Amino acid sequence: MNDPKTRIPGSENDRRVDYELRRSVDKIQSRFLSRVGDRIVRGMSLRELNEELLIEALSVASASYGFVLSLGSHNVADISPDETAPPSQPTQLELTAAVSINQNQQAKRLHETLTNRKPESLAKDVIDMGKAAFSNSVSKLPGNLPSGHPSIKSYACLPMRDKNKIIALMILTNTRDQFDLVIVNQLQTMLDAFVRIQIYDIVNRGIHDVIEDVGRTSRQLVTLMDASINGILTMDNKGMVTAFNPACASIFEIDVRKALNTNINLYLSNVDIEPILKQLDAAQQSGQIISGRPYRRTDVTATKETSVEFPVDLVIYHTSVDDAIFTTFIIDDISDRIDSARKLQYTLDQFQTLARLAPVGIIQLDIEWTCQYANDMWCQLSRLSREDTLDSGWTEALHPDEVVYMLTDMRKALVNKQTYHREMRLCAALDECTWISLSATALHINGRLTGSLIVVVDITEKHLAEERLKQSAHYDTLTGLLNRMFFLDRLGQAIESSVRRGDVALLFIDLDGFKAVNDTLGHMIGDELLKLVANRLLETVREEDTVARLGGDEFTITLTHLTDDYDAGRVAEKVVDYLREPFNIENEEVFISASVGIAVGNAKNSDSSTLIKQADIALYRAKDSGRSRYVFFTPELDQERRDRSVLITSLRRAVDRNDFELFYQPQLRIKEQTLLGFEALLRWPQESGDRVRPQEFIDVLEETGLISDVGQWAIEEACRQYQIWLKKGLIGDDTTMSVNVSARQLGMPRFASQVACILQRQAMKPSALILEITESALVNNIESNVIDQIKQLGIQISLDDFGTGYSSLAYLSQLPLDHLKIDRSFIMNITKNEHAVTIVKSIIALARTLGIQVIAEGVEDAYVLPLLEAEGCEAYQGYYFSRPLPVSDMELLLGGLDDIQLGHYVNFIDLGDGRPRLVNG
Ligand code: C2E
Ligand code: MG
Ligand code: MG
Repeated sequence: MNDPKTRIPGSENDRRVDYELRRSVDKIQSRFLSRVGDRIVRGMSLRELNEELLIEALSVASASYGFVLSLGSHNVADISPDETAPPSQPTQLELTAAVSINQNQQAKRLHETLTNRKPESLAKDVIDMGKAAFSNSVSKLPGNLPSGHPSIKSYACLPMRDKNKIIALMILTNTRDQFDLVIVNQLQTMLDAFVRIQIYDIVNRGIHDVIEDVGRTSRQLVTLMDASINGILTMDNKGMVTAFNPACASIFEIDVRKALNTNINLYLSNVDIEPILKQLDAAQQSGQIISGRPYRRTDVTATKETSVEFPVDLVIYHTSVDDAIFTTFIIDDISDRIDSARKLQYTLDQFQTLARLAPVGIIQLDIEWTCQYANDMWCQLSRLSREDTLDSGWTEALHPDEVVYMLTDMRKALVNKQTYHREMRLCAALDECTWISLSATALHINGRLTGSLIVVVDITEKHLAEERLKQSAHYDTLTGLLNRMFFLDRLGQAIESSVRRGDVALLFIDLDGFKAVNDTLGHMIGDELLKLVANRLLETVREEDTVARLGGDEFTITLTHLTDDYDAGRVAEKVVDYLREPFNIENEEVFISASVGIAVGNAKNSDSSTLIKQADIALYRAKDSGRSRYVFFTPELDQERRDRSVLITSLRRAVDRNDFELFYQPQLRIKEQTLLGFEALLRWPQESGDRVRPQEFIDVLEETGLISDVGQWAIEEACRQYQIWLKKGLIGDDTTMSVNVSARQLGMPRFASQVACILQRQAMKPSALILEITESALVNNIESNVIDQIKQLGIQISLDDFGTGYSSLAYLSQLPLDHLKIDRSFIMNITKNEHAVTIVKSIIALARTLGIQVIAEGVEDAYVLPLLEAEGCEAYQGYYFSRPLPVSDMELLLGGLDDIQLGHYVNFIDLGDGRPRLVNG
């Protein structure tokens, strides 16, 4: 029978209903104070009381007709659970009041039209159940209606209970809205309140008893007023305050007694009160009964006793009591609410101003992750209009590759109450992305997640700068190849995955003669060449291989997934061949070549630094053995390298301690058989007594730069010895002293001036000193004017080892040479090789034409001498006459030279005991 329109228990609704109920009771109290109380005192009948109740109830329920059925004292229904059920007998119902409300909200008491027709079955149901029943869809009425009775569409039947006994039933019909649990409960509470305060009792017992109870009753009413949470103020139709509860006192900050009988306009603004008073006045003039539904006025200005104004909400209703009309105001101080609303608005304004001015994009999402707010900057960064951003539109701005991850991660972080950060792209227009730094924070109300705030900052510039930095950190700016750092990285990765995927080969590539290109053609061409070399290297390898530039003219290739080491060899060969082909730069052909060192390994047997070291050793060997070639690393190469480093250490020590010594080898005039001069030759004596010969260490001295010190020492020592022999009379002043000078030494900036100092220190005649320079050393220094400087000092120059270098005979005419030494390889082959004879003859002929004295090296046998003499070679040196000798032995030899001049070719043989001996040849 009950309408299914019910409320969710324990919800906000419940609390609201509770509150509403209490408010209803409040209303009832105040109405009773002003209306019923008065009548009781004057003697009020039960019917009148019920009529008042009906008017009240109809108003609360918005119903149009209602009546009260009393059960009478003899058959009051007992609904107490602990008492035995009363005998089931037909209930005696007595219609004690009926009221209808017309469209103008005027109540009409209908006691004269009461009929005897009563809804017995409905009454029985309610009495049996002990609680109210209602229906909004009446199909069949419980009981028949008399003819002419308005039709009934809805009804509510409520028991009026006094201490578990039902004393009457109230029936309300045809509500304008709907009967529902809330309204019925509200009515029930109201009825219970009436009965509880024993008004029925009072009325039943009659006026005399009432007088007795008035004090008690009004105390109870006052208690109810006192307990009200709202201010309750009653005024008469003149606007004088007739009731003022404690809540009012605290709202208006005035004592209750002081407030009574004062004018209402002290408390509520005249603008609001004036029309009410006028209306009441008019009603009274016309004798109209004013009663009906309470109505509201919101945001009415009220005034405290301190004159401070504040806003209130009012529920107002009027009651006619006899001739007087009372108006009750239920006053709700809303300053706090308005204050909170204002504060909220202020905060909101602040937020929006901040968001509008902030140089960052801001959007606010709700719990469904849909956008509720977006500032201008967001629209600018995302290139979305505000309309397009709202709801789920904002996700359109996120880069499609990132949107899913970003939303998932963000959701996870926010749910876990963490702030979410991400650097990502906004790409509403796909061709142009904006890099942003995004931060999202969850928004909570009472600990419950209600949404989130997202702030985005444009970091495109920063991102590009980082990219550029990364690029420059990883790539060589000139060639665009990987740089050293990135190369190391890649090499490490390649080795890591090598065991699974095959060996790694590391090729170290060094350009031969690149310095000369730079020096002769300029750095612009040099740079261009490096770029072209880089391109060629890239063309030589597969896509998965890595080409890098370590700096200068050093490149690397990392080959991965090798199944056969020789693949690396093939690539190296391709590199060597390809780089040998001419490069066309600015319409000029530029030639270069490359040397390549190769090391192969995998994660099991090697690592990055080992491979690099090995490739470097192999490269060194490739360079050393003639360049423009490739060499695989082998353990033997490593051994050589170790030996070499031991050698370097020992040589450094020898230089520090001046451990070197000079041997001298005589040079003789062939024809005259007289001493022409000496060649000073460097020896490195060992503790064992052995003397290490120069070919074993000269290149190391050159490479380490130690040659500078040692070479200077050799020149000075030779000059010093020359002067001693001269003083001793062992040689004549036309004798010469030849000293070897290496290319590196010659290239030293102050070489000539240092030699000049030596000459001065040793008081040496410059023309007695001959500097032996090899072809290559001469060619390397041809550009500088060191040769001229030497010549200007008066020193002679001898071209050593002629025929082994790559200089052409054409050079000879350009060089200021005094002597030319035919390399011993030609002299030694003269008997075996026809070509050697031809070469020797040509060299001598050419030198003679140029007026250069020729000396033959490596003469070991007497029989070459007549041939050399016949061709016009003036001098020789070689084991035939004497090996290079230490000073003491040379002095012995010089002491006996007169004998030699007698016309015998003698062979001076080292017998191994350190003492030389002249042997007749
Ligand atoms: P080099 O200037 O051509 O010196 C001649 C070399 O031929 C010497 O070797 C000498 O011992 C050797 N020799 C002379 N006669 C004969 C012969 O009949 N048969 C054979 N088989 N060899 C003969 P050494 O002393 O071992 O010097 C080797 C090279 O070391 C020199 O060649 C020179 O280029 C360089 N050298 C020697 N001393 C110095 C020095 O003080 N400074 C520089 N920079 N280089 C030096
Ligand atoms: Mg020499
Ligand atoms: Mg020589």
